[in-house]
Parts: sequence; C-alpha cells; structure tokens
Amino acid sequence: QQTETNTRENKIEYRSPIICILGHVDTGKTSLLDKIRNTNVQGGEARGITQQIGASFIPIEAIKEQTKSFAEKVKMDFKLPGLLLIDTPGHESFNNLRSRGSGLCDVAVLVVDIMHGLEAQTIESINLLRMRNTPFIVALNKVDRIYEWKTCVNTNFVDAYKQQSKPAIQEFDSKVKETIAALAGQELNSELWWRNKDYKKVVSLVPTSAQTGEGIADLMLVVIQVMQKLMLEKVIYQEKLQCTLLEVKVIEGLGCTIDVILVNGRLKEGDKIVVSGFNGPIETNIRSIITPPPLTESRVKSQFIQHQEIKAAMGVKIVASGLEKAVPGTSLYVVDEDDDINAIKAEAIKEVESVLNDIETSGIGVSIQASTIGSLEAFSSFLKKIKIPVANVAVGPVAKKHVMSAAIMLEKDPKYAILLAFDVKIEDSAKQAANDMKVKILSEETIYLFEKKLKDHFDEIRQKLREETANKCVWPCILQVTHVFHRANAIIVGVKVKEGTLHIGTPIAVPNPSVEGGVANIGVVQTIKLNEKDVLIAKKDDAVSVAIDDTNMKTTFGRHFDENVPWYSRISRDSINSLKEGWGDELTQQDAQLLKFLKTVFKIQ
Ligand code: GDP
Repeated sequence: QQTETNTRENKIEYRSPIICILGHVDTGKTSLLDKIRNTNVQGGEARGITQQIGASFIPIEAIKEQTKSFAEKVKMDFKLPGLLLIDTPGHESFNNLRSRGSGLCDVAVLVVDIMHGLEAQTIESINLLRMRNTPFIVALNKVDRIYEWKTCVNTNFVDAYKQQSKPAIQEFDSKVKETIAALAGQELNSELWWRNKDYKKVVSLVPTSAQTGEGIADLMLVVIQVMQKLMLEKVIYQEKLQCTLLEVKVIEGLGCTIDVILVNGRLKEGDKIVVSGFNGPIETNIRSIITPPPLTESRVKSQFIQHQEIKAAMGVKIVASGLEKAVPGTSLYVVDEDDDINAIKAEAIKEVESVLNDIETSGIGVSIQASTIGSLEAFSSFLKKIKIPVANVAVGPVAKKHVMSAAIMLEKDPKYAILLAFDVKIEDSAKQAANDMKVKILSEETIYLFEKKLKDHFDEIRQKLREETANKCVWPCILQVTHVFHRANAIIVGVKVKEGTLHIGTPIAVPNPSVEGGVANIGVVQTIKLNEKDVLIAKKDDAVSVAIDDTNMKTTFGRHFDENVPWYSRISRDSINSLKEGWGDELTQQDAQLLKFLKTVFKIQ
C-alpha cells in the first residue's frame, strides 16, 4: 500500500502557489520583495529565478539552498515546484487575484513593522484576508531596529536570535508579546513560527529584516510549510483554465495589453479569448504572450521574450486588439473550437454583474465606484462593516452619468449625495457636474482613509442640521418642583429632574383642560444652577434651581398651574421632528419612551 501511495503521489503535479504581500504603508513590503529576489540572485546568478509579468518565480531549488541549514531540523520535504511571488505588494493586486468571489492568492505574507505593531492597513489587510479565506503568515519586519540588535546578515532567524544580547532579546520578546496581544484583539491566535504547533488555527510570526536579511530564509520556509500543511490540494495543477486579469496597460509599440496571472491551464499564441469589458464582453485573439528578459541579462527597454505556449502558474502580458475596456479582477476565457462562444460571453457578463448584484444596495445611500471588480468587492464589504448604506455601484472611471445618479439623493436624503471614488479617475465633466449639482466626490487610494472622511462628512452635515434646528429642538423631561423661590417675572424654582434631561431654552408646561388649548404654558428655561454653578444641562436625578422666563405667558402661578403637579418640557410635532433630524442617533431608548409618554400628555398625534 505504501508503494501505491508513493506512485500516486509521484503522479500528482503541483503548480507554484501564488503569494501576495500585504500590510501597512512603510512596513517594508517592497523591501522584503526585493530582498527575497536579491538574496536569490546574488553574484549575478539567477538560480533559476524568473522575472515574469507582475510576478517573480522563485524555484524550489533556490529555496532549498537558502534554507538548507535548518530545513532538515524541521523535517521539510519539498513538494512544490517553487513560489510565484506577486510583484506589486498591497491590496490592489490581492483584490484582483480573484475568481467568482474567491481569492486566487494561495498564501499571503502580512508585513508588520515590529516597532509599530498593528496599524490601520494591517487591520484592513486582515479583513481582506478573512473575506477571501486566505491563509497568511505575519512577517515581523525591521527586527534590526530592535535596540542593540546585532546584525547577522542573511542568517536564519533562530541562529540570529542566539547571537543577541540580553537587552535586545528582552526588547524583541516584549515587542512579540505586544503583537500577539494585538492580534488576539483581532481574534487571531499567533505564535513565533518555530513554536507554532498548529498551523491551521495559529498564525505564524516570522521575524525578518528586509535590510540585513535575517529571517528571509525562515519566511520562505514557513510559506512552503503553510502551503504543504494546509493547502496542498489547492495547488494540484489542473488543465482547466483559470486565469485572472490583473491590469490593463498601454505599452509603447504594443498598444493596449493585459497583464494576467495564469493560475491553472495553458495559453497559446493565437488562442481566441473572451474577457469582461466595461461595456460588455470582449472577444479577441492572442497576438503574443510575453514576459521580461531573464534577470541575468541586461535589461533593454521593450525587449521581451515571446512564448508560443505557457503553462500555469505564471504571470504574463497578453497582446491583443480591443482590450482597452477590459475589467481587471475578472477572468480570461479561452474559446476552443467546440465551445459555444455565446455561453462564454454570457459567463463573462455574469461575472461582472454578479459582483454588482451581490453588493447590497438600498434605495437610499452613497454611490461607490472602484477601478476593478476586486477592489469594488472589497470596498463594498468594508462599507457594509461600517454600516454605510450603498445605493449606486459602478466599476471604472467616474463619468457625468455617475454623478447624476448620486445626485438623486439630494432629494431623497442629502447626506447621501456623495460619490466615493476608490482609486479611480474622475473625468473633468464629472467634476464639473458634481460642482454644479452640489454632489460631493470623496476620492482616496486606500480603503481605510474613507472611514475618517465619511465620518467628517456626516459630522459636518449633522452639525449643520443641529445648528439649523437648535431652536426648534425640545428634549423631553419631567420635573418635580421641590421649592418655590419666585412665582412670577421670572419664576425661580428648585426642581428635581425625574426623567430625561433639562436643557436651557426648553419650554415648560403642564396639561390643564380649563386653559384654552388644554395646556398651561409656564415659560422657557433661562438658567440652570447645579450646586450654585450655571450649567447648560441637568441630568436625570439632578436637583437644580431653574429660572424660567414667563414674559408673555397668559398663565398665572397658583391659578393655571402649581408646584404640586409634575412639570413637563412642552414638545410638539415640529420639535420631535427637529430632535430626530439633528440628534436621531444619539437619542436613547429612555428618550424615545419619554417622548412617547409626553405625546400622550400633550395629546400629540
Ligand atoms: P512599503 O511601503 O511597505 O513597501 O515599505 P518599503 O519597502 O518602501 O520600506 C519603507 C522604509 O522602511 C524604507 O525606507 C525602507 O528602507 C525601510 N525598511 C524596510 N524594511 C526594513 C528593515 O527590515 N529594516 C530597516 N531598518 N528598515 C527597513
């Protein structure tokens, strides 16, 4: 049986897993990528590393060589042909590496600056990784910045750690502890990689320095380990085509091209292909498939290698006509002779539409736009999380028509007359239209920056509304008079706030059927004193003295009202509306109940 398994395993062909690097700005993502490539291309010898389009291929031989000093200790058995490292770190390429909602990045490296811990985009990355169910490891980068760190160039981390002084070890340990605690705050269990016994449930932390090279070999090894322990099935090579479009680029001499990652299957020169376009599916033929020249050769601009056929996994550029409107983040389909091209086109349309349809929209909400289908998905899921309703969704540059759609909210609910442009161009005509129609366009290149901008936008609108409605708002309260100091020409009384809050400016009244209109108006609160000090608001159970301006009130203390009944804030239909408009989200359940009660007191429908 042993032999049988062996033979079966021998037959299995694996493709290179696709690895993305994510993390906050300046944590060292680009430097790590460079270091991984450079430590493998030392002395001008490429060790089989190939520069592809949008990705670098690191062959397993190079990784074996790099990790040989300690791979044996962890009993590593290398099964994969190598790693396909996506060259552009960050969210965009990760988001575009998708296929029908699921992620095509097999393992991600989340880079954290060990001196800074978790930052805004680290959390955003964690959310993206969760959304796509992508396993990841954390590179705790910049360990060389630890106080008194002794540099051990390109050494594996465990050996480098042994060389360190006590203070360096202490600082390192405490930084690791902080990161583990912060990750726990994100509901993630984590552990230094050599202590991690459960790759499935616990995220591995790999300390690295992209500058001096400590831990780079560990990083490679742990990526392979995670792949082999958790995901081996996923990287069994398949002939069925799986190819995703990362970018659309105009290249001098070639025209409009698309950069794709071929995850499974093959592409050939001359293949008839279908890709999703902003205005419907695009049908074209592959004119050429190209990659950059090998790393060891001198780079001459526009010198590419052409391939008649390529096999996954690989990043390549495709030259074909009619690709200008292709949508990044969607799939590329090859049409074989006996395929029904219309069915494939329908599939391509469905791919874009299903993303648009999957985004929950409501009749009232903001308008959103992103450059690619992948980033749109990520953006909408972020907005859902922070509870911002979305009414209109689009992919691609912001045009006038998109501003018009957003402008519909001016009538429905003006605070939502905004268009959130996530990493997309805004056409001049759209800017002009937004200006004319008073639609705000918020534009950002990273998702998390929208959170603050949106908060500022809604705060500003609310503030304006509060100012506009300030003199119409009446906060509900019930007062019990405890002492009467002055009965007229300002009424001065000691009161206890039985329910609600008492604000300066609040009209006070009691119901009285014998008065015209059924309500005896007492006056308007002019000052509130708590323990001899002027205050603007008295809370429930506060005992305060209150001066009430009773000029022009057609009532008399003792005749139309007295201290023996509860006094109420005089609410009206108008005042309730103003309060809800300006303060709706800050009204408590008690406020709402009290308003309901006062409505019955003053017989408001
Ligand atoms: P990215 O924005 O995440 O791609 O970060 P970069 O790779 O551009 O690095 C940001 C800055 O940190 C640069 O000045 C790098 O030289 C520096 N840096 C990156 N990695 C390390 C490291 O491991 N140690 C030290 N000391 N500096 C680093």
